[in-house]
Amino acid sequence: MAKRLIYVDNAATTAMNDVAIAAMSPYLKEVYGNPSSLHSVGQAAKEALDGARAKIAACLNCEPKEIYFTSGGSEADNQAIRSAAVNGAKKGKKHIVTTAFEHHAVLHTLKKLEKEGFEVTYLDVHADGVVSVDEVAAAIRPDTALVTVMYANNEIGTIQPIKEIGGLCRGRGVVFHTDAVQAVGHIPVDVKADNIDMLSVSAHKFHGPKGAGVLFCRRGVPLNTFIDGGMQERGRRAGTENIAGAAAMAAALEYACRNMQKNSAKLLALRNRLIEGLLKIPHSRLNGAFEGRLPNNVNISFEGTEGESLLLLLDAKGICASSGSACTTASLEPSHVLLALGLPHEIAHGSLRLTLSEENTEEDIEYIINAVAEVVETVRGISSFWDDLQSGKIKHFI
Ligand SMILES: *Cc1c(COP(=O)(O)O)cnc(C)c1O
Repeated sequence: MAKRLIYVDNAATTAMNDVAIAAMSPYLKEVYGNPSSLHSVGQAAKEALDGARAKIAACLNCEPKEIYFTSGGSEADNQAIRSAAVNGAKKGKKHIVTTAFEHHAVLHTLKKLEKEGFEVTYLDVHADGVVSVDEVAAAIRPDTALVTVMYANNEIGTIQPIKEIGGLCRGRGVVFHTDAVQAVGHIPVDVKADNIDMLSVSAHKFHGPKGAGVLFCRRGVPLNTFIDGGMQERGRRAGTENIAGAAAMAAALEYACRNMQKNSAKLLALRNRLIEGLLKIPHSRLNGAFEGRLPNNVNISFEGTEGESLLLLLDAKGICASSGSACTTASLEPSHVLLALGLPHEIAHGSLRLTLSEENTEEDIEYIINAVAEVVETVRGISSFWDDLQSGKIKHFI
């Protein structure tokens, strides 16, 4: 029998779907022109790019002119934050408000800005993984240039009060950026209704290709170039456009939005069964609030375990999961997101993130529940920390 493979790491990346692959293929070989060329092959490529822009704008409820193609979510985050910071500084505003559990594309950009003389307020996300609108309001000062708060967290799936924060920022005249990489294509996102000035999107998180993303920047909000060169993207992002990537991203997003209700219902049922099954394992806890959570996200800590050991044993059983975010698995530091929830290091270390896609089945879920129970028992069986917990030498946290 072929080895079973169950992929539940969709917050790290997703497989491209057939819709995206089909949309991409004409631009790899037949319509290979440079959109800046005046001849027919170039103009055909330009039409494809315009079409992709219009589709994405329709999905986000904005104008096509407000869409800038980027190489992905990280670039969009970098450009948005740097641009808002530099333009704020021109008016003497050098303060930025964010949360403690943003993606590293945001946090590391802000760390650099701090070295360049900006001041950053990192707001608490409390035990439930949600920032408080009142605390955002209290943090805004006359010299605040930017508020950047992610739409939904990539590790624990908690959805933030974006519409309220957007309304608040609009009222105070502060630029509002949101890293919506985990939200777009998964839950309804409407940049107008949500009062968003700038928003980052990445195609490979909704079954599109890697290396393609979007920065939405509302008309009237200044946007500086991040990559200098030609006049592509209305002078805001130089470099010959990734036509195939843009076409595939647009098709994947349109497909995701069209099927969102149906897929969410399916994912919610699978997710809830998985949470219920895993929480039956003694001394386990769900990280992040259950309510207001992405329909595909499960993040659970198992006391007396090591996330890396759980992952390797699960991999041997054909299950691809994650402990913390993909970017931090190479380091021994526990996830900054789990620490931001107030979890002690030992608990943060022993956590698993399982992020589903509509490809997963009920059988997958039952298989995962059994497999996780087995590997948790195995890891605890060789853990002296678990022995100390069981003997009462160390007090149980969960
Ligand atoms: C994946 C991810 C990013 C980075 O997007 P890339 O396209 O991989 O650069 C940024 N923010 C969040 C929340 C993500 O999940």
